[in-house]
Amino acid sequence: MPSTEDASWRATYFLGVALLLPIGTIVLVCYYFTRMNPFDAGANHWAFSVIAISGGLSAVMAALLALFASVTYRARVRFENEYRNLQRYLNEDVAKERTRMVRNLDVFSAAQQVSMAIKQEVNSERILSVVMEQLEHFAKSDSVAVFTIDEAGTPVPRAERRRGHDRFPPALTLESLDCSLVAEAARCSRPQRSLNEATGEFVLAVYFSTPEGLRGVVRICRNVADEQDFNDEMPAFEQAVNQLVRMASLGLKTANMWDRAIKDEKTGLYNANHYADQIRKQVAVARRTGMPLSLIMMDIDKFKHINDTYGHLAGDRVLAQVATILMREARDSDTPFRYGGEELCIICTGSTGEDALQAAERMRQVIACTEFHDDRGRLLPISASFGVAEYDESAMAGDKDLKEACDQALYQGKENGRNVVVLAEGREKFRIMERSGDLSLEVKRRMGLAGDNSPLDGDADPKPLHDAKAASARAQLGESIDALATGLVEIVGTDNERARVVDCVVREAAEFLTRNLSARLGGSAPDTKAADSLQRLHTNASGRLGEAATKPKRRPRKKAEEATPPAVTPAAIETPAPLESAKAKRKRAPRKPKAVVVIPAPLTEQEKLAADSDRLDFLTDEEGDQLAKGKAPSKRLRRLTMPKPAA
Ligand code: GH3
Ligand code: MG
Ligand code: MG
Repeated sequence: MPSTEDASWRATYFLGVALLLPIGTIVLVCYYFTRMNPFDAGANHWAFSVIAISGGLSAVMAALLALFASVTYRARVRFENEYRNLQRYLNEDVAKERTRMVRNLDVFSAAQQVSMAIKQEVNSERILSVVMEQLEHFAKSDSVAVFTIDEAGTPVPRAERRRGHDRFPPALTLESLDCSLVAEAARCSRPQRSLNEATGEFVLAVYFSTPEGLRGVVRICRNVADEQDFNDEMPAFEQAVNQLVRMASLGLKTANMWDRAIKDEKTGLYNANHYADQIRKQVAVARRTGMPLSLIMMDIDKFKHINDTYGHLAGDRVLAQVATILMREARDSDTPFRYGGEELCIICTGSTGEDALQAAERMRQVIACTEFHDDRGRLLPISASFGVAEYDESAMAGDKDLKEACDQALYQGKENGRNVVVLAEGREKFRIMERSGDLSLEVKRRMGLAGDNSPLDGDADPKPLHDAKAASARAQLGESIDALATGLVEIVGTDNERARVVDCVVREAAEFLTRNLSARLGGSAPDTKAADSLQRLHTNASGRLGEAATKPKRRPRKKAEEATPPAVTPAAIETPAPLESAKAKRKRAPRKPKAVVVIPAPLTEQEKLAADSDRLDFLTDEEGDQLAKGKAPSKRLRRLTMPKPAA
């Protein structure tokens, strides 16, 4: 196609010729006049006529040429403009079509990725992660969040991806998310969008629902400040996002299905079935690759007592809270499971026994330092014992042996004062982990003396004091507890052995304090019996600590009566090699059935005190009230607390 430039050159050329012809004719005529004098009579006029005629013809031709040049030039320019416009329209259409095709291809490939994840993954978080990754990539978004809508119409966050980083519950909470437009989209069951002109932030909340009744919203946030023509693109973009969200809903449905199949509803951890599958698989991998593999087992201490005293609901809450701690503290390569009632475990892929020991100690510490409360705000004395074992191909036939070793280590933890981590270091050889961290904080936390809910902190105590008497009783008790706590903390220092003994005492003390201080102190009469009992607890604690100092190998009171005592040493310990399993051993140390009448051996003075303080732990609410109000105690209480007359 000739350019406009060519055309203009040609036009100039034609014009030039058109101008030169008449100029040439005029020059010739002038020459003829000056030389030949055509007005003379007898002059030959034919030359003049020829020149005149040819001059006229030249002028006509020049005019025609000029006209032709101008017409061609204009036609050419018009044609070129048309051609250029046409080309632009074509290019735009082709580009649009191309963008549409690329977008469709993107949607197709994203859908393929999601469907592969749905097929291959059993982990709901992995599925959601792939869904969000595809949405992020496709929508060029800064953040993607997936919500489900519960029956009340409230959005429940399921997953969020922000700049390549995924978050899931429990780390992901509704409060930690920007939920603008989500509730609105759920309410109208239609997509909602907003564009902040100042920041260029575009938010799209797409509603979805499945025939099974699963409802949800996907919220996409994208910065379009630098995209001038985003407004034109928006409808097509939304349409494509809608298609992807349909795939996301499929992914979410599958994720929910897997959750129901392999997750435990109460704690959100994987269940025992999945544990059995995974441990078998991981042991096979460890066998083939030689990669280290460790197992941590955890059992909440005295959980039955928590259930019996505070109710199953409180127990359930504790269980869920402990599970959350494990999920939070576990590394990416560690997977926590609930394999029994209040027994949780963690498969640590690629971890040696030492690594797992450190991880378990960290978890033990967090649990021991966390305040657990029931729904009435009473502090619950929670701790957990851990058993750790590393898979040893030469000594273990399979996953059952690994579990057995771990279970035995846990049993040793229970036998050695609880709230400890024990590593199985070979057949019947165990190592108790030195407790790290702030032991005194553990003691204080357990007694409810540290933290927001401390009964000693007057401002934090929500119960008003009605009279001066009650206030003085409270102050008196507060001082006693403070003295007891300070004494215990000082005694414990950094000594693990002492910490173990103090733990037993504190468990009892915390229970006692929770009942007698936190629950009833506000507005009640002076609880002199409570003060007495505290005094006894103090004496009891000092007595036991004395024993611990002189006889460090003595086992905790209750189990000592039930089974043969293994050695309590923080270093490696050898136990006599009983052939039956730890589970069988634990089964063989049952609680005494209520119907059996046991004639107790005569107790020493110290044991009597310990027994008294134990039984005081189990005051009913009614009895506690009676005690607090200074009323006559019930028969049962009298029997428990009154000194027996000498025979
Ligand atoms: P130990 O320190 O020796 O472990 O003492 P324990 O009282 O914890 O003894 P054990 O582990 O045998 O007790 C298990 C108790 O856990 C029995 C049961 O009442 C309680 N439990 C099991 N599953 C659940 C649950 O899902 N919710 C609640 N609330 N309690 C449970
Ligand atoms: Mg248990
Ligand atoms: Mg337990």
